[in-house]
Amino acid sequence: MASRAPFMIGTTEVKPGRRAHVELPVSRLITGAQMSMPVTVFHGAQDGPTVWINAAIHGDELNGVEIVNRVLSELDPKTMRGTLLAVPVVNVHGFITGDRYLPDRRDLNRSFPGSAKGSLASRLANIFMTEIVSHCEVGIDLHTASDNRTNLPQIRANLDDPRTRELAEAFGPRMMLHAKTQRGTLRQAGTKAGAIVLLYEAGEPLRFTTDAIETGVEGVRRVLQHLDIADWDGPPAPVVPVSRSSRWVRASRSGVIRLDVELGDMVEAKQDLGTIIDAFGKRLSTIRASRSGLVIGRTMFPLGNQGDALVHIASLEDENSPAS
Ligand SMILES: [Zn+2]
Repeated sequence: MASRAPFMIGTTEVKPGRRAHVELPVSRLITGAQMSMPVTVFHGAQDGPTVWINAAIHGDELNGVEIVNRVLSELDPKTMRGTLLAVPVVNVHGFITGDRYLPDRRDLNRSFPGSAKGSLASRLANIFMTEIVSHCEVGIDLHTASDNRTNLPQIRANLDDPRTRELAEAFGPRMMLHAKTQRGTLRQAGTKAGAIVLLYEAGEPLRFTTDAIETGVEGVRRVLQHLDIADWDGPPAPVVPVSRSSRWVRASRSGVIRLDVELGDMVEAKQDLGTIIDAFGKRLSTIRASRSGLVIGRTMFPLGNQGDALVHIASLEDENSPAS
């Protein structure tokens, strides 16, 4: 077996079969302290693909941080074929303040691919593209729902691309949603750079959601196994429902929200999903399903204004109910 070349990141050289922790300089805080993006490199002893996993592009999305750390705790570069670049926190500024955005209110996930001379968000995106994405064939971007909402663990990806679909199926989430890429997202910039990018959406922001973390750890391990980077003896991927269309049911009235549906429930069109009451308990409106399908997201906040998103329903490609 020919010996493998070392992996270079920043100014660090990682030898085959070794791991390294690297701090990529991002910017200085106003106090002068250096902010850096932490990266762990697992450079496998043998040749294979290079893959990245990242979390906290939105600083308040913490499930992915835990997923990355649990996956890393199980891997050994001496037995790996390929290289894993793990970035548990991309939006380092938002992460330390529990904020989705950067200090200038920019959304990092609308700032890709970024530039070296742009806004802070743009510079951060540029560092991630240059130091991480440019090396990789595959990337997994870990997110949670935003605001006070929660998501059924799902992969959002271009399911029309056979290689992307194959990896999404290998991940084995609770459902898969075909989604076009949005401008400025890591998924779009990474795809344009030639990588296959899976976006995992699961659980709530600012919380550790057990199901989201466990499904995410298993999913990443299955993708690494599928790419033959790291062996895993966990359960095979389940066959999961697929959707190409989803929509939020919104509040018809402002008031106190009582929801009677949970993530993963199957609902029929016009089914009662809950009630909106006023602050004294008087019934104002019934919340009804706008379509039949699978509940893939819901609000966790029991107060809402007219128009607020309450329940996210995905129409399924076939009428098979998900395995419960
Ligand atoms: Zn996010």
